[in-house]
Amino acid sequence: MRGNFRKVISIILSIILLVSTNTPNGRAVMLPTVQASQSIDDLLKKSYLELLEKSPNFRFAKQQYQEALKRLEKEEKTRKDGIAKKQKDLENQIRRAQDELRKLNISAAEDTPEMATRRQDLHCRIQSLQKQAAEAKVARDNGIPIEYENMRAKLEILEKWPTAKAEIQNVIESGQARARKWGDAEDIGYRTIESNQEDDIKKGQEAIQQMKQMGMLPPEIQDEEITEYVNRLSQNIVKNSDLQVPLNVTLLNSKEINAFALPGGFLFINRGLLAEARNEAQLAGVIAHEISHAVARHGNRLMKKATIASIIYQAAQIAALIFTGGAVGIGAYYALQYGFYGLGLALSLQLLGVSREYELEADQLGVQYAWKAGYNPEGFIQFFDIMASKEGYVEKTSFFRTHPAFYDRIVGVYREISFLPMQEQAIENTSEFETMQTRLQEVTKKADEESGKRPTLYGGEDKCPPEPTESDRPDIGR
Ligand SMILES: [Zn+2]
Repeated sequence: MRGNFRKVISIILSIILLVSTNTPNGRAVMLPTVQASQSIDDLLKKSYLELLEKSPNFRFAKQQYQEALKRLEKEEKTRKDGIAKKQKDLENQIRRAQDELRKLNISAAEDTPEMATRRQDLHCRIQSLQKQAAEAKVARDNGIPIEYENMRAKLEILEKWPTAKAEIQNVIESGQARARKWGDAEDIGYRTIESNQEDDIKKGQEAIQQMKQMGMLPPEIQDEEITEYVNRLSQNIVKNSDLQVPLNVTLLNSKEINAFALPGGFLFINRGLLAEARNEAQLAGVIAHEISHAVARHGNRLMKKATIASIIYQAAQIAALIFTGGAVGIGAYYALQYGFYGLGLALSLQLLGVSREYELEADQLGVQYAWKAGYNPEGFIQFFDIMASKEGYVEKTSFFRTHPAFYDRIVGVYREISFLPMQEQAIENTSEFETMQTRLQEVTKKADEESGKRPTLYGGEDKCPPEPTESDRPDIGR
């Protein structure tokens, strides 16, 4: 019954869509308010790109947006409460298993073979329960809040983007497009975003040296072809950017889905990012964003008061807390051990030049560089969409942490794309990208095998039945 109702609504909506795009003056028609509250929720399941394209065709009453927001808040709370209950339950189970161990110890001074087996079973049980509890904590503290932040951003797009889009259209039609900040995109390479970029090289080198000394840098990917490909791609973006220092690219063998640039043109790209991008335009979008941080000297501008040593020291403290299971807690420890987070969690945002204002600037410049290099500039949003819709995983957390705010960013990027002259044939993907990902599978396989062998912090029981792998991990509150 409900399915039919939805079908009818979607048919009506698609008819309205057809009508509105076919009006003679090309302008979207003001649509009557759609009554079904269900359809807002359905729209929120769509990707950012789809919403940006389609939202000008929908109009809801203010009250409907407010109600949807309330529903999201309630749902988030319910999911979090559910996990909290599960956490309590897991804790109880751990306590019960520990009680059984105590009983075992009281019953005899030495283990019979049966008792030894029972002890081993209980150890494995506790180990598994602790992992589940840690995973639940990561989901509650990071995964779910990020998921709902994305939903709220999508709701905001639905509500505000149509007006924003019309305003952009007005600016373009009145010939004022180039009056926006950095509106001189056709002069890339011949304009100055920030002078004296070379002054940052020493800072970047110093940071890398200290991170290496403290054992904070993951190992590099040892594969010439992959390294060569990513370097070629990155240098091509540099040629189409305002970067005036050499770009130094390092590929890190880390599962964390992230890339970051240290001051002075030192770009680090994680294996997780290379594996997760679906095409070259997406990878180029992220790399162009990171290059923009170096161009605009964001790290340097944020670091003015602190020394590299003090920043790295802070980062090392966070890393140490994670490694020893201290204040950051078992959740973060577990996440780190399984490669959910890596450097992204420990690195100071100050060092990376991340702040709301700078992110927006890096987004704008990044989109311009990807566009100038011939890529479909929507690749960056496509990648954002992949991150936002990755459910059940927490690897995305660090990307979102080091790259905050959603609505402003998505709209900011799309706004810039709207201003840029259309390209005839924008690059979406290349066969070289596909070859790289195929080769990367080998690197990932090897790294996974090695991480399985790596001793854990607790030592741990090695004869326990295998833990569920990522794809069949227990459901965490969905
Ligand atoms: Zn950034």
